[in-house]
Amino acid sequence: MKRVYHFIGKNAEGSAKMKNDLGGKGANLAEMASIGVPVPPGFTITTQTCLEYYKEGGMPKGLMDEVVKNLKLVEKDQKLALGDKEKPLLVSVRSGARVSMPGMMDTVLNLGLNDDTVEGLAKMSDNPRFAWDCYRRFIQMFGDVVMNVRPSKEEEDPFELILAKVKKDKGVSSDTELAVEDLKQLVSEYKKLVKEKTGRDFPVEPMQQLEEAIKAVFSSWHNERANKYRQLNGIPDEWGTAVNVQTMVYGNMGDDSATGVAFTRDPATGDKRFFGEYLANAQGEDVVAGIRTPQPINKAAKTEDSQVSLEEKFPEAYKELVAIYQRLEKHYKEMQDMEFTIQNERLYLLQTRTGKRTGFASVRIAFEMEKEGLIDKNEALRRVDPYGLEQLLAPIFDAKDTAKAKGEGRNLAKGLNASPGAATGQVVFFADDAGKYPKSILVRIETSPEDIGGMISAQGILTARGGMTSHAAVVARGMGKPCVAGCGALQISYKNRQMKAGGQTIKEGDFISIDGSTGQIYEGQIPVNPSEVVQVFIKKTKTVKEAPAAEMFDKLLKWADDVKKLGVRANADTPADSAVAIAFGAKGIGLTRTEHMFFGGDRILAVREMILANDVAGREKALAKLLPMQREDFEGIFEVMNGLPVIIRLLDPPLHEFLPHEAKEQKEMADVMGISAEVVKEKVDSLHEFNPMLGHRGCRLGITYPEITVMQTKAIIEAACNMQKKGIKVIPEIMVPLIGHVREYVNQRDVIKKVAEETIKEKGVKLEYMIGTMIEVPRAALTADDVAKEAEFFSFGTNDLTQMTCGFSRDDAGKFLGDYVEKKIYAKDPFASLDQDGVGRIIKIAVDMGRAANSKLEIGICGEHGGDPDSVKFCHRVGMDYVSCSPYRVPLARLAAAQAVLEEKK
Ligand code: PEP
Ligand code: MG
Repeated sequence: MKRVYHFIGKNAEGSAKMKNDLGGKGANLAEMASIGVPVPPGFTITTQTCLEYYKEGGMPKGLMDEVVKNLKLVEKDQKLALGDKEKPLLVSVRSGARVSMPGMMDTVLNLGLNDDTVEGLAKMSDNPRFAWDCYRRFIQMFGDVVMNVRPSKEEEDPFELILAKVKKDKGVSSDTELAVEDLKQLVSEYKKLVKEKTGRDFPVEPMQQLEEAIKAVFSSWHNERANKYRQLNGIPDEWGTAVNVQTMVYGNMGDDSATGVAFTRDPATGDKRFFGEYLANAQGEDVVAGIRTPQPINKAAKTEDSQVSLEEKFPEAYKELVAIYQRLEKHYKEMQDMEFTIQNERLYLLQTRTGKRTGFASVRIAFEMEKEGLIDKNEALRRVDPYGLEQLLAPIFDAKDTAKAKGEGRNLAKGLNASPGAATGQVVFFADDAGKYPKSILVRIETSPEDIGGMISAQGILTARGGMTSHAAVVARGMGKPCVAGCGALQISYKNRQMKAGGQTIKEGDFISIDGSTGQIYEGQIPVNPSEVVQVFIKKTKTVKEAPAAEMFDKLLKWADDVKKLGVRANADTPADSAVAIAFGAKGIGLTRTEHMFFGGDRILAVREMILANDVAGREKALAKLLPMQREDFEGIFEVMNGLPVIIRLLDPPLHEFLPHEAKEQKEMADVMGISAEVVKEKVDSLHEFNPMLGHRGCRLGITYPEITVMQTKAIIEAACNMQKKGIKVIPEIMVPLIGHVREYVNQRDVIKKVAEETIKEKGVKLEYMIGTMIEVPRAALTADDVAKEAEFFSFGTNDLTQMTCGFSRDDAGKFLGDYVEKKIYAKDPFASLDQDGVGRIIKIAVDMGRAANSKLEIGICGEHGGDPDSVKFCHRVGMDYVSCSPYRVPLARLAAAQAVLEEKK
């Protein structure tokens, strides 16, 4: 099998279509080369080879022969050779998976240098300073990546310590000020350091360097941070990484050289403006690593007069870059994130890929690209990540609160608005401290891939160094976390666990607030407020026209509605929740949990009275008190839903949940009810169950105490009739919970039917209603044909169905499911995302059998999974009629339902 693909001038063996084999970077380098974009020549080793490397436990046989063959072609093209003393070729060795995993794997630049070739490079470039600068960088990178010379926590990078010392001795502040002799000194000290730490001499043979670097990149596929990133982003281990070996071009060749990154649109806001940053006289990693704060790409992006944009400093290269970015965006029909290098004023592209963006930006870019005619509506829908859409619902600071904070002198500093959203929390300076506080803000000089765990648990991220494309900025945007980056005014001391800014000292544990949309940082807490979308659709304090984000959100979801086949309903227990559901586009209620109505005010007393009653008459007396209250609740919901279907579930939880368990509360209850505390205690004890989740709950309650079912049915039907009389159409669907046997359902159905018919007759109105059941016990699912002959609808209660199918307690499994996911036993928490292979298989059986037995059967889902995009797509595929989820997830479900249809078309 071919393992190596070259790209030399327009002669490229690969193409953008080969991402699976060549990785994203390799495939796009080949594509760019073939369409004539200036790309330094090189070759890509396939992802398959990485898998071979793991399988064989080392370099696959024959691989280096293929590498040498392709290297020769590059050498011929460049008229240079790896290891040649006069005309040395230097290469970069970079990772590149199918999807980008920013900074997670390893890279080595300037490979091929040793004490001889450095002289050749000095002569060839007529620039000894540059040559030695490359050499010291190479030893540092190779030392770190290949030879594992790395700092531990709280330790500073040993290479950086040496560099800082040499700079201090020479009295210079920037590494560009170091002279040749200083750099030579660095090289010699770096080599000593490597020997000291590893016991090995730094390898001088370029072919050996190359082979070791390739191995190191393969190995980095399974380093800790890459594994964690893959887990977080659902990237399979089986993909492997490609390795790109490419001729070096030098952004550090002097003041007429530079390196930078650019986006064809703003990745934070989606704004259609060329966006990016660069560093003069620097190499690629300097920009991403956030070592110096870079300069803006053009005049329009300058925030201070002292900045020198690329447009001003390199006008010709800038013009060419503009032409290339426009071409690339048109070619790929997608926002691009590019890396470029300018060597002696000549521009080269080192990478282009689909740019990561915030959820907000993803909606805007998809929406505007459709308007520009670059993509069609379906493609726009495919492009928006449903979780990204959720970011539009993320909170913001209110302008009057930030003005107040400013007035109180609490604004500490301003950094770059790297990832939008507002966050407030307690400061931590180390990633592994982020879990210490309920809400923390991770503050770092700069983040590195090791910090990923802390970035996940923090509310927001603040860095002192690095630009809009620094690690912190890119990763935060990917996670949808607020981030302020490159805030140079912060003086952070890791040792003292404190920072100084705006004349104040902030210690670990102190509260700060950061605004990722403006870059402002404040001392203390600031309340976080609803997003624009929520203000428009829920609070109705703004109009769509005043809120561009809300307008796009609305239009995009309307396109989704035109495509999707699944209905989307909401789980709502109150008129207020129902109103939110409607505002977000729900077309009905899939689950009203009536028990939630039993808690407020006087109701709990009546419920307790019912539970304590010793006979039917006593229970009926208490239930009679609850009836008008329940009826009122239902009327409220029916009114808001105004003709849309509403599923109401009969009482589900075990009765002990309504009684107090502490002696003090039992006494209070006894006093209110005028009985003795012993009676209460006796009842509580008698209701005790070892396994209440599998105990006397669901339909089992109604079977033992049919009077509960009678009261609830009466309340539902009376409410519906009352509304109907008012001219509001109502279609109640009464749902029996937790059946396992068809006879459980039939028992309850008969009670419901009798009461419903009598009530309708009493009320003298015509009313359509349905009776159906939840499917949440595996036995019910496996006998779905029997059940479907009796029921008018099924609603999959996948919370309980997951519990009972997997045998995981809903209440306790949280303790160990994290381990299960980490150890890849389950890909995701099965309570959050449907276990499609197991629980999903049972659902499919039940849907198929149910439909075969009753073609009119209405089928939906109302477990938590109804709001999880992958699970929604599954529900579409098995042919359900609707999903039902919490009101705030309705937009996500609408989009996922449309994507499910589009995925079928592909
Ligand atoms: C379910 O089990 O999925 C369900 C919706 O019911 P509950 O969560 O109320 O048990
Ligand atoms: Mg349930």
